[in-house]
Amino acid sequence: MTDAKTFTLEDKLSRTGVRMTAPRRVLSRVLGSATDHPDVEELHRRAQQLDPGISLATVYRTVRLFEQLGIVERHAFSAGRARYEQPGDEHHDHFVNVRTGEVIEFHAPEIEELQAVIARRHGYKIHDHRLVIYVEPMDEE
Ligand SMILES: [Zn+2]
Repeated sequence: MTDAKTFTLEDKLSRTGVRMTAPRRVLSRVLGSATDHPDVEELHRRAQQLDPGISLATVYRTVRLFEQLGIVERHAFSAGRARYEQPGDEHHDHFVNVRTGEVIEFHAPEIEELQAVIARRHGYKIHDHRLVIYVEPMDEE
């Protein structure tokens, strides 16, 4: 999610202290303005609109770097390429439409609470979690 963020991804990148290069700036803008969960090829397409010479390999490398720096999150949803997003301030989980690959964000307080209850039952508190539910449209049996 990209709402309610205090700093742009470009700000966050420069705060990590890494050298600002043209591809890093381009990718930070592309990822910072994404409201979906693009894969590397889609990021490459968008980056090319800002910098036609940018290569797919550069996009791969740059996104990996961003991931290592903790400024973008990588989702390895099954059946598809890794997707990327900028972590928002609000926790959310994901539905993945198995037919289209579309990623839908949701937040369900009742699921959050139930997870805490179950963790407690096992003698733990939740440190972090990721929940992905694979869904398909209801139009067919
Ligand atoms: Zn998301």
